[in-house]
Amino acid sequence: MEFTREQVVDLLSTLVRIESVTPWLIETGKGERAQAEYLAEWLSDTSLEVTLDEVQDGRPNLLVRLRGTGEGPTLCINAHADTVGYGNWPTRALEPVIEGDRMIGLGAADDKAGCVSALLAVRALAENNVKLNGDVLVACVIDEEGVSIGTEHLVANHKMDYAIVIEPTGLPIAITEHQGFGWIDIIVHGKAAHGSAADAGIDSIVHMAEVVTRLHELDEREWAPNPDPLNGRTVFHTGTIQGGTDYATYPSKTVLGIEIGSQPGETLDNRIADINQIFADITAKYPNFHGEIDVKLNRNPFVGEGFELLLAAMNKAAIEVIGKPMAPQGENSWTDAALLQEAGIPTLLVGPAGGNYHAEDEWVSISEVVQMTDILYRTIIELLK
Ligand SMILES: [Zn+2]
Repeated sequence: MEFTREQVVDLLSTLVRIESVTPWLIETGKGERAQAEYLAEWLSDTSLEVTLDEVQDGRPNLLVRLRGTGEGPTLCINAHADTVGYGNWPTRALEPVIEGDRMIGLGAADDKAGCVSALLAVRALAENNVKLNGDVLVACVIDEEGVSIGTEHLVANHKMDYAIVIEPTGLPIAITEHQGFGWIDIIVHGKAAHGSAADAGIDSIVHMAEVVTRLHELDEREWAPNPDPLNGRTVFHTGTIQGGTDYATYPSKTVLGIEIGSQPGETLDNRIADINQIFADITAKYPNFHGEIDVKLNRNPFVGEGFELLLAAMNKAAIEVIGKPMAPQGENSWTDAALLQEAGIPTLLVGPAGGNYHAEDEWVSISEVVQMTDILYRTIIELLK
């Protein structure tokens, strides 16, 4: 199947112009509805079954089904419809610009290119009346940049046998595993007292400084020098800190927000054990130390399993389109692939090359979006013929 640069530029530039910032991250974000409605209309002249599957008030997953004979497996192609905010390039983010092979714009790579590839491929299959033994379900899901309620809703409500998640990994990379992560609040309790009453007060900020220093030392001692060969250095950074009430009072409570990773084979419990060890070490120095851990979000690592037939189909397609098979690899960031695989669906993560994600001048390689579309088209036929 010949897919053209023009097809990709037309649809992708239209989607970039439709703001779909996740309201979970940015309160004023418009969400995914307008883009889903546009795409439903764009598909209305095809035989595809299109559903706006409401996940949360005004925030639907766009589901596009190409029905097969019912004998074969169902292949889901998952890309996310939402983007992060664009406060650092407000006048340009929604105005796509083309420079050579690159399209620059908010979500051009992450992840509207994924939606475009999946939709162009499935549209072409429908238009060419290709007969398949299983269903193809394209899911342009909401909230991946938030807390992934779109893919959670998808796996809870739909039967799928294989999944391809599209994110801008760059061809020919196929991610087969990646780190998990947690968002954790560490709460240190002190004791409020008049600023002159050193015997009565416990300084929660001084105690929190011990926590921060020891976490940083652990990172430098353990995680930085020992990156996982596939998935890189275990993620750790501080994110937020709040504490104290005023100049004149001992601070009774300090809260540190961190993001911290786990490697395949681990869970967030490994990192919680690390933090508890730090608490024990600090208590040895300051017996009145009182720390608490509040896990806000816990996502397990992605460890792909059972994807051999899918990878074989994709390898065949990739050799035809780009002259080489897919290259299995790991990654240090988290994606919705983990949720699909956790639901028992063999999953691979692939996508076109891009850069500057979550930053100004985000770009995607237009030629790789064209290639990705063709690889998807051929993979679907190979797997479901
Ligand atoms: Zn993404």
